[in-house]
Amino acid sequence: MYFLTTQLDEVKGIGEASFLQLQKRGFTTVKDLVLAVPLRYEDRSHTVAIAELQPNTLITIKATLTQTKNFYKGRRSMQSAKATDSTGNVKLQWFNNPHVISNIKEGEEYYISGTFNPKYKSISQPTIEKAYEKDGSAKENLHTNRLVPLYSMTIPLKQGTQRRILKEILNNLRIPDDLELLNMRLVESFDEIHFPTTVDHVILARERLALEELLSLIHRSKEIKKEWLELHTAPSFKIPADVKEALPDSIPFMLTKAQERSTKELLGDLAQTAPMNRLLIGDVGSGKTVVAGIACNLIAEQGRHSAIVAPTKILATQHEETLRTLFPNAAVQLITGGRKPLETPKEPTIFVGTHAVLNRLESIAPALVIYDEQHRFGVAQRSKALNLDYMPHILTMSATPIPRSLMLTIFSHLQLSVINEMPAGRLPTKTWLVSDSKRESSYTWMAEELLAHKAQAIVVCPFIDPSEHLAFENVASATETFSAMTEFMKKNHPGLRLGLLHGRQKKTEQNTTIEALYAGEIDILVTTPMVEVGLDLKRASIIVIEAAERFGMASLHQLRGRVGRANQQGYCLLFSNANSMSSKERLEAFSKENDGLKLAELDLKNRGSGNLFGTTQHGFSELEFADWANLELIGKAQKSFEELPKTWKPLFEKSSESGETPLAN
Ligand code: ADP
Ligand code: MG
Repeated sequence: MYFLTTQLDEVKGIGEASFLQLQKRGFTTVKDLVLAVPLRYEDRSHTVAIAELQPNTLITIKATLTQTKNFYKGRRSMQSAKATDSTGNVKLQWFNNPHVISNIKEGEEYYISGTFNPKYKSISQPTIEKAYEKDGSAKENLHTNRLVPLYSMTIPLKQGTQRRILKEILNNLRIPDDLELLNMRLVESFDEIHFPTTVDHVILARERLALEELLSLIHRSKEIKKEWLELHTAPSFKIPADVKEALPDSIPFMLTKAQERSTKELLGDLAQTAPMNRLLIGDVGSGKTVVAGIACNLIAEQGRHSAIVAPTKILATQHEETLRTLFPNAAVQLITGGRKPLETPKEPTIFVGTHAVLNRLESIAPALVIYDEQHRFGVAQRSKALNLDYMPHILTMSATPIPRSLMLTIFSHLQLSVINEMPAGRLPTKTWLVSDSKRESSYTWMAEELLAHKAQAIVVCPFIDPSEHLAFENVASATETFSAMTEFMKKNHPGLRLGLLHGRQKKTEQNTTIEALYAGEIDILVTTPMVEVGLDLKRASIIVIEAAERFGMASLHQLRGRVGRANQQGYCLLFSNANSMSSKERLEAFSKENDGLKLAELDLKNRGSGNLFGTTQHGFSELEFADWANLELIGKAQKSFEELPKTWKPLFEKSSESGETPLAN
């Protein structure tokens, strides 16, 4: 009998050597192997009589084998056999496979799966397997006469061996307190996923697993919340009764009502010794940074450090600038790269940086850690915040809206603040889907617009270099676009200066470009989606997106949010070679809608959750079976969770990277 926790070396059929191989790839227990579900299935269930063999389709025959032969053709070892059923016979052929012959017992019945080649009147390289009756007895065909699972090559087992081992496991697997949910127990769902009766059964079984995955997530969310509430180790701060008193005069604008409310909620948490674990959601450009800055500034005034972690260096640099402008009295320090312990300044400081900040958290010992646009962060990075003898307050900022039902279940451990209005005076960015024939005229329009308003433009291409893949042949690359545009502008509008920025450039080169950009020495920046988050160029009014169909709505919206940030009219030009109706419709819909939440909903409808919720967003590793967009199943999970017996244990635990600590939110 096996349990999910049984070590794989205790499984019949797994020797010491293959156990070591498996372990190396992260497969240690039975659970690891049963959760490594097939990539796909091959339908070998289609059995025919030999007289009815159709060429070039995958078929299975049931036949008696005779005349097995092992011979050489030149230097090549070859094998053959004759397969006979009541309707006729056919030749089977293999190359370099003497084992297959030595295992055949002549005169016995076999299933033979392969494709018939009419030219040679033979089946070449078929899979053969002794035929068993489908009578529920222990012996069962695994490789033929059924839907056959095909597994990822990253699992260090031969396909056939893996099937045999999984069958051995599944035949003897016990899951204590296995619940019948969606009319299926977990054990059954594993059976159906690895050795499905029908394709429909696979779908049901995956849904059952998805439900279990959601239950595990809900469980984890509640655990985190519980542990969090028990903690009283965070530094607390004195908070003025009126938020306005926390605002330095150096902030040149009035907060919106939503910003004010969020600030109040955030500061309220900082007054407690229970560590904050809050999510601040606000559409692109809604002004999350200043809210974060107010908290950091207040903390600095009361003698503690804080840290803001940004997903890119561009964004970190920009936060540094913004904070210096908005809070001139606070000490701000940029950290990029390096792992050495930091000479932490005595003066309370706001540290800003990329993940490099996380390596320094122990020496910084911040009272507050802020993750900006956190969907770029993995769980592993996040949990680093924990090697401290107290718990810092945590604020996560995101532009991705989260449906209410998710918030109530899977993210129930997070407090939520929402900035649901834009600063006054913002004009919606005008978005156009431009046909390729208007490319030159739109370049001309762009040049004139830039010159007339001393504005800047950003041109985004999906790739750095032209691709050698045929499929991507026509997809604009940054280097190509840069050359073409430089040539065009030189000829027609020589006053305009272009810059190129992408991830393969040297860091120093990138920095020079970014500095030139902020200094206004570049009018047109050609780049890759690396600018998706954060770039805050006050004079940027035009964004051109090449191969726009390649981006999700959320990304497009982020990109569009880069322009018109200082109340000037912004323009977003979408180029697309995609001919499919759905791509066009999606881009048309995008050009008509400016509300990030509505776009997210559209995206959910059209593409499933896609990359809307990102992979490691919110600290949970990627969902393997469930889909964030399946709100119905999430609703079911919520209900089932309430009814779980006390003995229930989550099947999907936090990923090993996340550590044992409750921080990873
Ligand atoms: P996001 O929420 O996308 O991170 P930012 O914090 O970068 O947005 O803010 C976008 C721009 O709006 C910044 O230039 C910021 O200074 C400005 N801003 C923020 N709040 C206000 C406000 N209440 N009134 C006017 N401008 C604001
Ligand atoms: Mg931001």
